[in-house]
Amino acid sequence: MKLAIVCDFDGTITQRDTGKEILSKLTTKDWEYYDQFVISGEMGTREALQHQWGMIENTSAKEVFSIVDKIEIDPFFKELYELIQQKNWGFVIVSDGFLSYIRRILDRNDLMEDNISIKANDFEIVKGKIILKFLTESCEHGCANCKFTHVTELKEQGFTIVYIGDGLSDILPAKFLADYIFAKKDEDLARNLKGDKRLKTFETLKEVKNELLTF
Ligand SMILES: [Mg+2]
Ligand SMILES: [Zn+2]
Repeated sequence: MKLAIVCDFDGTITQRDTGKEILSKLTTKDWEYYDQFVISGEMGTREALQHQWGMIENTSAKEVFSIVDKIEIDPFFKELYELIQQKNWGFVIVSDGFLSYIRRILDRNDLMEDNISIKANDFEIVKGKIILKFLTESCEHGCANCKFTHVTELKEQGFTIVYIGDGLSDILPAKFLADYIFAKKDEDLARNLKGDKRLKTFETLKEVKNELLTF
């Protein structure tokens, strides 16, 4: 079996969602208002993120990264990653978040030198505003970064897919493409796939690692 582990970043590898932390700290506006439209399928994450991050004014890299630097990763991510390397499985991080902070957080945890494959959006800060740069040019779901497309490509290469995630952007790829699904307990992905035979929920990545030891 040719296994690929596809792993979300925010709220899955990290303990808290970096994007949500930044939005909560840098705007007093109601950015959460747009999440309901993503949940109902009326709006893709691309449009929602544009609205939400557009609410931030007069910020700086220093201010953004001071928030990023307080984000901790799951204490068992390294153990899980070591197992994946030992077994020689494929590994890719798929994120609807942003490379600028993903790389910074991995680097702080001595994980950047490993050349981990990361599929994510990016941003730059221009005159106090955060300008988003989406990875996906266009897709039928209106994704900022289309996780569904990335997982489809892996399946076409013959990989069996283990999907690890927590949030809204993980539902589509997990539900329609994954062979095994690990979802963070009590979050959107787990709630949405409740009763699915492929689903196992977890609180920390130690549980995921222990399950994968048996593969
Ligand atoms: Mg997430
Ligand atoms: Zn898409």
